[in-house]
Amino acid sequence: MTFAATIITLYPEMFPGPLRLSLAGRALEEQKWSLDTVQLRDFAQDKHRTVDDTPAGGGAGMVLKADVLGAAIDHARRLSPDAPVLAMTPRGKPISQARIRELAAGPGVTLLCGRFEGFDERIFEGRDVEEVSLGDIVLSGGEPAALAILDACIRLLPGVMGAPDSGVEESFENGLLEYPQFTRPQEWEGRTIPEVLRSGDHAKIAAWRKARSEEDTRLRRPDLWERHTDARDQSASGARHETKDD
Ligand code: SAH
Repeated sequence: MTFAATIITLYPEMFPGPLRLSLAGRALEEQKWSLDTVQLRDFAQDKHRTVDDTPAGGGAGMVLKADVLGAAIDHARRLSPDAPVLAMTPRGKPISQARIRELAAGPGVTLLCGRFEGFDERIFEGRDVEEVSLGDIVLSGGEPAALAILDACIRLLPGVMGAPDSGVEESFENGLLEYPQFTRPQEWEGRTIPEVLRSGDHAKIAAWRKARSEEDTRLRRPDLWERHTDARDQSASGARHETKDD
């Protein structure tokens, strides 16, 4: 099955962009995914091909018009009826690896890229659109966010990544950051690779990796760590519950 990506944008020439190369590029050639771009301007309703207008209530910049967005989304849905539509916006829910995994398992995704000050808010009431953010940064347009989300989906498609289980221990896959990695040379500028990784003792290596993964998550990402320990405590109390009810 081909994963169908549809991008609604004022800059279709930005795609596939970097996704033409490497892993994603090869997968595109092999038709593991397909790409359609939709030029937002083609859905302008006037002869000047206007896509934006000044913000109601005043203020800087321009806002993408709901009528233009609505027509472009309707067109994209005809191209790819079953794909969820995600709008790129810093006001959206931060994208997660869990959501990426769901998307990659589906028929494809339609990504709506904003520009200027963003979208007329009514589009989110008038159409079934998921608002998604790449993180707490402000881009000049949604295109780099769309490229990042697509890249994350494509590497998970069947047959795209080399080893079938690279990715299983990856950061976020189990709610934690991945353990740190090392490779030869054994000594670099006086620094050596942790001895345990050269021990050949697989149980010891696994234990070291788990401990570092937990420690680094706790120190670097207290937000992830809190969620992880909450989930762990909950499943532990759930298990106790079951035993009691039995
Ligand atoms: N005025 C808006 C920002 C507009 S930036 C605000 O303050 O919320 C212009 C466009 O870039 C947005 O419409 C969106 O499509 C894209 N963009 C900017 N930052 C983004 C982010 N963190 N995640 C996803 N898209 C982003």
